[in-house]
Amino acid sequence: MRRAMHKLLVTGGAGFIGSEFVRQAVKRSYKVIVVDKLTYAGDLERLNEVKGKFKFYKVDICNKNKIGQVIKREKPQVIINFAAETHVDRSIVSSDPFIQTNIKGTKTLLDLAREYKIERFIHISTDEVYGDIEKGKFREDFPLKPNSPYAASKAAADLLIKAYVRTYNLPAIIVRPSNNYGPWQYPEKLIPLVSLRALNNQKVPVYARGQNIREWLYVSDCAKAIMLILENGKLGEVYNLGSAQEKKNIDVVKSILRILNKPESLIEFVADRPGHDFRYSLDFAKIRKQTGWCAQIGFQDGISKTVNWILDNPKWMKKHIGKKLSIKFK
Ligand code: NAD
Repeated sequence: MRRAMHKLLVTGGAGFIGSEFVRQAVKRSYKVIVVDKLTYAGDLERLNEVKGKFKFYKVDICNKNKIGQVIKREKPQVIINFAAETHVDRSIVSSDPFIQTNIKGTKTLLDLAREYKIERFIHISTDEVYGDIEKGKFREDFPLKPNSPYAASKAAADLLIKAYVRTYNLPAIIVRPSNNYGPWQYPEKLIPLVSLRALNNQKVPVYARGQNIREWLYVSDCAKAIMLILENGKLGEVYNLGSAQEKKNIDVVKSILRILNKPESLIEFVADRPGHDFRYSLDFAKIRKQTGWCAQIGFQDGISKTVNWILDNPKWMKKHIGKKLSIKFK
């Protein structure tokens, strides 16, 4: 792909990972069109660093007419779909918006990609589509066995994409990253939530005994990998993006408390999340072999950068925290 020639339509570009991707894409001279519904999780402030260097449309990806108009006007060659409902706990309370955006929204984009002969459709999926694994690692060809409504909605989208690739030769690629962390993450997710509660000297809730394991990938590493896949990935393929940085939740929480100089007595074990996946672990040899990509930021460095970013951005954090969580920064 000759990148300077290409115009990217990035859905969910005002979200946590999407905005990091947009910042990197603008810096690499791509023309970027951001489409985002701006749900509770979306915020254009994440894109302040590249303000004026991308176009923005506030549109729902389920709205075929409006997205069609954007594509007609902007003529992007590529669609990168980050837009999604993303919080597992919310999907347990109500899965409707997850079914709507993650499945129907993706289907709408797939149909439009066909209609407008989009050259590349890059879909951001998740490691959660595989279910959990006690030992070993998930390869891209492993069966999908999702356990939460969120993961099921993401797996449904993946299957739909595979069907469009096979049936219509749609030029699509699926990317499955592991747990992301870093600046600008919405404070309902583990790392910003724990940081905020600890800063406020509030109890830090940890599911069960905190033994569940996640593979932590720093957001800039994730976005870099998606860029490489955009430029060099093979159509029709699935790519896992892992970091090999596996951590028990309890150890993640303890690292945050250490950085903030807060006591471990703040930890409060609470009833486990229903259907809680025990461990995710990805085999990411494929992307490594094809592009040479490998995560650059190790967990200790990444967690310290993330917590320090939170300390440096009290205004943004305050704007997004629930009413129950008032926060006193020093
Ligand atoms: P996020 O919740 O921070 O952002 C999602 C963005 O999508 C928001 O800006 C929101 O406004 C937008 N959006 C939601 N519904 C929309 C709709 N109907 N139309 C248009 N825009 C809509 O999510 P994130 O953490 O940045 O995740 C981005 C993608 O990566 C998602 O597809 C998610 O499933 C996937 N993913 C995330 C992680 C992670 O750890 N955060 C890990 C693996 C995969």
